Amino acid sequence: MSSLGIVGGTVLTPDGRVESADILIDTDAGIIEAITEPGAAGATTSLDASDAVIIPGLVNAHTHVAMALLRGHADDKELHAWLEEDIFPVEATFTAGDVEAGAQLGMLEMIKGGTTTFCDMYFHEGAIADAAVESGLRCLLGHGILTLGKDEAGIVDDLETASSFVSAYHGSADGRIAAALMPHAVRTVDSATLTEVAAIATDLDVPIHLHCSETTGDVEAVLERDGDRPAAVASAAGVFDRDAFIAHGVHLDEDDLDVLAATGTGIAHCPTANLKLASGIAPIADALDRGVPVGIGTDGPASNNDLDMLEEVRQAALLAKAEQQDASALPAPTAIELGTVGGASLLGFDVGRIEVGAPADLAVIDLNAPKFTPRHDILSHLVYVANSGDVRHTICDGQILMRDREVLSLDETKVRETAAEAAVQAIGRVA
Ligand SMILES: [Zn+2]
Repeated sequence: MSSLGIVGGTVLTPDGRVESADILIDTDAGIIEAITEPGAAGATTSLDASDAVIIPGLVNAHTHVAMALLRGHADDKELHAWLEEDIFPVEATFTAGDVEAGAQLGMLEMIKGGTTTFCDMYFHEGAIADAAVESGLRCLLGHGILTLGKDEAGIVDDLETASSFVSAYHGSADGRIAAALMPHAVRTVDSATLTEVAAIATDLDVPIHLHCSETTGDVEAVLERDGDRPAAVASAAGVFDRDAFIAHGVHLDEDDLDVLAATGTGIAHCPTANLKLASGIAPIADALDRGVPVGIGTDGPASNNDLDMLEEVRQAALLAKAEQQDASALPAPTAIELGTVGGASLLGFDVGRIEVGAPADLAVIDLNAPKFTPRHDILSHLVYVANSGDVRHTICDGQILMRDREVLSLDETKVRETAAEAAVQAIGRVA
């Protein structure tokens, strides 16, 4: 057995304790073989975790990673105007090569920030899957299906692209890559197609992920089109009969939350994007009270504008307190759970906890900085102090993706240069 030891540090346990321990990983199987007393691991290779805490790899439950190419292109605008005037025209010119370049950039950033698993919806999704294979990350991917502005042939084509993507990639890279059906949003996909998507997802036995109730405009448009609110429309179409989770859920009323709770449908909460695009504040504390599963996502890097999951976890904790006018809302232990095992459950991966036998998806957070002093409560520091720059090592599926801030699976210089060039070219095509 080839083994990897992460030694000399402390470990965040599934019950929220931080204790001194070493971790021994079976790198062939990609699982945690043992959690031992300090100094007892005895691995063939080791990573230094002294003055650091080992946490489960972070799970970005909703993004469009290739939008890294559009980061900083037209900010400070309302969502629909921003999409229609600035984003869609450039995206329409993207080649598979552009998408792959953007995806590699986003994955590089996620590895550097301790994210090991993500969920992505976009187009040219095969290029994103190829980048994911190379990066070593774990992911749930899907082709975004749209009916708004398309004729019947275009819709059929979209459904076929989405289904073939699932057939080609679901379970690939030794199970690191899973696929889902991803209708873009209740607003942008008509209810007949949502019904069809639910049937195809049942047939292919994959989950469904879609945007829902991100803005008041989303809710109004669906009310006008279908006479009911987005969550009710998706539910009536059978979407929530599958393993399903929505992105955003900013404008959910009590009936909507009841529908999600009754069907076990989760929310990928994207607090920073909701703030930046002035969409509103999602009722996450109420959702959790009702037992709705919740994970945390950054959304695309053009609406955030980064992929820093530690910052996103903090944002979720802070925003819930403001929304509830209650400082005890979404406390640190809950926030870190949502950013790890909570998101993993939505995506259908059995990761997000440090336990013997669990997949070895880990991030080592360096605590050697003034801001982590004193250490009354390391878990509090993880939520209220740490950010992506504090990640020392990233491990996914038992493989070292980053050691001492150097990414091993991707060539950082080349990825940054290629993406920067692709971004300039793409914006130039519409200027
Ligand atoms: Zn999104």
